[in-house]
Amino acid sequence: MRIGIFGGTFNPPHQGHKKLALEFMSRLSLDLMMIIPTYTPPHKEAPDLATGEDRLNMCRVCFSESCFLVSDIELRRKGKSYTVNTLQQLREQYPDDELFFVMGSDMLLSFHTWREPEEILNLATVCAAGREDGLTAELCGYVKSRYPHREDRFVVFDFDPLEVSSTWIRKYPKEAMEKDLICDGVENYIQERGLYADDLEQ
Ligand code: ATP
Repeated sequence: MRIGIFGGTFNPPHQGHKKLALEFMSRLSLDLMMIIPTYTPPHKEAPDLATGEDRLNMCRVCFSESCFLVSDIELRRKGKSYTVNTLQQLREQYPDDELFFVMGSDMLLSFHTWREPEEILNLATVCAAGREDGLTAELCGYVKSRYPHREDRFVVFDFDPLEVSSTWIRKYPKEAMEKDLICDGVENYIQERGLYADDLEQ
């Protein structure tokens, strides 16, 4: 199988995540896409982070189709969610399958600062979708200059993103719901659990 691995904070998951995941599925001819909420995001501060359980449940609702598998692998491991550790665990679980680590473009440019980037490249093909004009060229240039000997382990392509972020949704939940930027099930979940209510009052 060709398995995609899509990690994120998913606080909350939104239609921009889903569009990106579906795009990767078709461009890379994936059989399965794993959706993996992080326990603690190592790359950013997250003061208004919903609990792991809530983010996992929202991912299950958002990514309910059979081509997706929502995994609690990082939530169970706790601590900082380093990609290399997740990939090592998945490699053991799926020894004969091809792994593709996918991400929005913003994260690839710091790839060399991640923990054990060379080991990550041994474990998976690293794939990024350029979200802004000119970014794909910048990403290709980054790969060429930093990893000239491993270019075949990267896939970069242009992508027309949905203009939305979880930060924006936490700030303007009502508008996000009106504009269908989160799916109905996630909208209901947020309302029932009273998530991001502090942000609503600001
Ligand atoms: P936040 O606003 O809290 O930083 P976010 O919306 O960027 O969150 P994350 O969970 O941090 O969401 O992102 C997970 C992955 O999804 C990252 O690789 C990110 O680049 C990508 N991503 C986020 N929003 C979009 C979008 N609108 N279109 C395409 N990719 C996205």
